[in-house]
Amino acid sequence: MTRVVLLGGIGTFGMNGLLIDDGGRKLMVDAGLRFLSDAAGYGHRALLFDLDDDLRPDAVVLTHAHEDHIGALPHLGLDDVPMWATPFTARLIAQRFARQGQRAPRIEVVPVGGRATCAGFDVEFVAVNHSIPDSAALRIETTAGVIVHSGDFRCSDAALLGAVTDMDRLRAIGTNDDVQALFTDSTGALTEGLTAPDTTLVEPLAERLAATEGQVVISTYARHVERHLVVAEACRRAGRRLCVVGRSIPASLSAAEVTLGAGVLARGELTSVPRGQRCVLVSGCQAEPQGNLMRIARDQVPHVTLDEGDEVWISARVIPGNEDALRGLADRLAPRGVRVHTAVCHTSGHGGREDLRALIRAVRPKTVVPIHGGTAQLLAHAALAEDLGVPALRVREGDVLDLDDGPLRVAMTRPLRHLLLEGDVLRDDDVRDQRRRMAEAGVCVVDVRTTPPTVLLHATHKNLVEARLCDALAHKDEGVAWADAVAEAAQRMKAACPAVVVRGPDAH
Ligand SMILES: [Zn+2]
Repeated sequence: MTRVVLLGGIGTFGMNGLLIDDGGRKLMVDAGLRFLSDAAGYGHRALLFDLDDDLRPDAVVLTHAHEDHIGALPHLGLDDVPMWATPFTARLIAQRFARQGQRAPRIEVVPVGGRATCAGFDVEFVAVNHSIPDSAALRIETTAGVIVHSGDFRCSDAALLGAVTDMDRLRAIGTNDDVQALFTDSTGALTEGLTAPDTTLVEPLAERLAATEGQVVISTYARHVERHLVVAEACRRAGRRLCVVGRSIPASLSAAEVTLGAGVLARGELTSVPRGQRCVLVSGCQAEPQGNLMRIARDQVPHVTLDEGDEVWISARVIPGNEDALRGLADRLAPRGVRVHTAVCHTSGHGGREDLRALIRAVRPKTVVPIHGGTAQLLAHAALAEDLGVPALRVREGDVLDLDDGPLRVAMTRPLRHLLLEGDVLRDDDVRDQRRRMAEAGVCVVDVRTTPPTVLLHATHKNLVEARLCDALAHKDEGVAWADAVAEAAQRMKAACPAVVVRGPDAH
């Protein structure tokens, strides 16, 4: 029996992952985080799927090193599970575990275009172009036939760094393999056309840099190494000297084994160059509070100042939920005469509708399974596949797909457990619900006194107590008298909470 369990990445962006169960051999593809906005997270920064014994893989393969594909790995107890990844991805995973203070997992490095046997599965890592080095689509052999997983991709035929999408190999797979299912990135399913490669950005960026009078600060993602090379080349053409701020961009360049070339200024050398000939490259492009871009804006980076006539260019799209942060950045800098421009020198790492069509035509699957997208993208992608005459399966997180006998179908939907990250601390998902209820209903602190006097509940099980108080408030909404509801909650707190500190009469 061959089944695929869809663990995440469906209906909402992030937390990508699926598990192929082929007669008991289990292969996980990707294990990412879903980042949560302040409004949705109630203090938690990310959500991830949890793995019960049924879902525990024998091996993990990774398509690429974005956090929404690898970020959950250190939190899933997979230390003893072998992993296979391309070189850049493997180095980033090792960095990720080191940052958590964990022993690095066993990672087998597979060259882009290479092949490996992973827990008995024959897996090929086919080169695809994306906004991070060494991205791969996966061709996976199962007893029910070949599955192709696109990873995140665009069909670019030019690249400053690494491989372009290997359409010849994908077409060969489509011709030879009788592909049972194509699991494929839907991010660009609402965007017309073919996504332009990063190489097309160099010339316009150079022209804009040459036409700008002040210092330019360009901010992009730390892992988008090809974009760093675009900026370096554009600076050379525009006669600007480049300076890189922060450690994360150099760490990515090092993991990709490339440099920005000669002539890059150290931070201390910046002031030796006229403002109009400087360009500063920095991460933190979503105005993350602790990111280097915001540190520059707060004058916390020595030697790097922003003055009248300087400009900040965000070389990325604004991720929904981050609009306020970027507006705050613009408001902070405007009084100094510094302007902030978004989506400058940017092209998506994800293919548009023409890229999606090209992949389906190349791979010629029996069924397309749109994944990696919001509901609107998934539905648009499914309709696009059907317009090409290929059946599409509309799926949800938790769906278990049956690959045996006949067309691919949803056999069942299984409940999935989730975990939350607050900083680097893992919590059960119900904590978020408790906090949501507290935020909506309010918080009430109850000081319970008994005889002998002054017994104060001091609960280490804070969340439990808070949840019960929310219960009290909910009861109030249902018409129970307020005093009765609080008294009842207090009784239940006292009964349920094992950590009761009894203080003597002198305590208060
Ligand atoms: Zn990606």
